[in-house]
Amino acid sequence: MKRIYSHVIVVGIDGAGGFFRDADVPHFNEIFKNGAVTYNALSSRPSISAECWGSMLLGVGSEVHKLTNGILESTPYPTDSEFPSLFRRIREAYPYAELGSYCDWNPITHGVVENGIGVSHDTAHDTELAPIICDYIREKMPDFLFIQFDSVDGAGHRHGYGTPEFYQRLHEVDELINDVHKAAEDAGIIDDTLFIVIADHGGTNPETGGGSHGGWTDEEKFVTFAAAGKTVKNTTLSEMNIRDLAAIVLYSFGIEAPEFNENGWTSQIPEGLFDDKYIPQYRDISHLTGAAPRISKVAHTSELI
Ligand SMILES: [Zn+2]
Repeated sequence: MKRIYSHVIVVGIDGAGGFFRDADVPHFNEIFKNGAVTYNALSSRPSISAECWGSMLLGVGSEVHKLTNGILESTPYPTDSEFPSLFRRIREAYPYAELGSYCDWNPITHGVVENGIGVSHDTAHDTELAPIICDYIREKMPDFLFIQFDSVDGAGHRHGYGTPEFYQRLHEVDELINDVHKAAEDAGIIDDTLFIVIADHGGTNPETGGGSHGGWTDEEKFVTFAAAGKTVKNTTLSEMNIRDLAAIVLYSFGIEAPEFNENGWTSQIPEGLFDDKYIPQYRDISHLTGAAPRISKVAHTSELI
């Protein structure tokens, strides 16, 4: 397989769900105006950070990797796991690649990314983290950069997801997304960069007090995914799962994905994302996630787990 992108930058927005659709996010809209977007990518179950980011970075379902917030906070990710992270897979294929993981919620770097494989990393609250990331991009021009901004989720927990305060924070984080994008432009790498924004889960807005997540309502389980790059089609994606991020990244680096296995790797490239007729047909694996079908027209459910 041939490498398609020299750089992949993933900007993860914790707790943003599908709320980008109705938010005041002019930079996001500009960056992805010729790209592929969906507000109905399916989260992992339960719709909790560790389960979701774990699925995205490992390419396996949460029922397989079994990571939880508590595990991420306490346990370094094993370097010999049968489910290597994207970082380890890229490192094994490209020994000299520059890899970075910059997360506001540092347990991701600690608990999903293997230690000792040369991944640049730092952590801070997202407003402070963004300039550090921008300097890193300009200086190192990373091959693979994973970013997680946490403050939108914080606003959701405090005020409820989809509240005016929540949308205001999403509007502010839109500036940070633009800063990251601009840094890639400044570094001269944007034309050969696959640029992605993805959320891990959404959340609820109860009448009483702050919001929460973990359940399987539409507001929790449907999330934003957007991609821009030289081979990305200008389209609305109809089906994808957040863990498909792993297959997308490996494909971009020309690394062959592991064989599809319901007890292991279940990450696929969403149909219609790339201009490439050789991408295998997308399989519906919604039965593995408890949601069927994985498209936007699902009746609202308030089932909690
Ligand atoms: Zn989260």
